[in-house]
Amino acid sequence: MDSCSTISPTSTSLEHKGFDTKGAEQRPVIPCRLRPFALFPLARKSSWQELIARRMTIAAPARCPVCGSLTVIVRIRGNIRERCRCIRCGSTNRQRQLAVVICSAVASATGVKVRSLRDLHRLDGYVIYNTEAGGAIHRQLVGMENYISSEYFGEDYEPGEMVRGIMHQDLMRLGLGDETVDLVISSDVFEHIPDPYRAHREVFRVLKPGGRHIFTVPFHPDRVLDEIRTIIDLRGRVILTKDPIFHRDPIRKKGALVHRIFALEMLVNLARMGFVIRMYHLHKPWYGIFGAYALVFEAMKPAS
Ligand SMILES: [Zn+2]
Repeated sequence: MDSCSTISPTSTSLEHKGFDTKGAEQRPVIPCRLRPFALFPLARKSSWQELIARRMTIAAPARCPVCGSLTVIVRIRGNIRERCRCIRCGSTNRQRQLAVVICSAVASATGVKVRSLRDLHRLDGYVIYNTEAGGAIHRQLVGMENYISSEYFGEDYEPGEMVRGIMHQDLMRLGLGDETVDLVISSDVFEHIPDPYRAHREVFRVLKPGGRHIFTVPFHPDRVLDEIRTIIDLRGRVILTKDPIFHRDPIRKKGALVHRIFALEMLVNLARMGFVIRMYHLHKPWYGIFGAYALVFEAMKPAS
């Protein structure tokens, strides 16, 4: 945190703005310039792998928790969270963050040793629902028994309907039965849902007791309340309350609108719904996970 500094403002500059400058020469400048402090203990760590990743094209050797390979992580321009890719499976930093938490959670739930998402194929009767039907995580899981994936194609379709060979689902009204899923995966999806807490309640409904939703979302670690960027009017129309932000979307060329950026409020809301909520702040260069604010959330439906 910055300390207060004493400055000697020039009389000329303050007089010019109409201030009385008598005796102002040694007065501390108030308020101090304060940097917001994270509400959570988020360490800012760095490593030699990260330092190389920030400066060079080829980052570092790693064991990828998505594909399980000994591999090299390559940075292809852009930010470290989205662009440091495994040369074997194409996974991004964010997808490897999810994979590490998924492996740990599944291992503790099933007692099976899970070193990468590839190992999930060994599980018997374990139902996984992925809220996207593309990307490195999907490519590792597709073909697995009891694996479900979907995309959102719009209001014209019914939940569970197949569209161009992909299942359509609306997370605010899922076409899945009560207590039928062991693991729900979502990777930067819930910020694009107009009413994300309605979607979380749907996830709670479809999860089996002891089941988990493991996810990433944009998150303000230094704010209490969510940043609400849109509201829904009485006719169900989306009204922008801030300048629109769009994220890249494999389905829509225009991109996906960001409705909300989450904060502490999200953890409280999920706990109130009945979830046991955990937040992981990861820094695991050996698994290709670099950078500050590598946050993954785990919302578990209690076993009883
Ligand atoms: Zn990989």
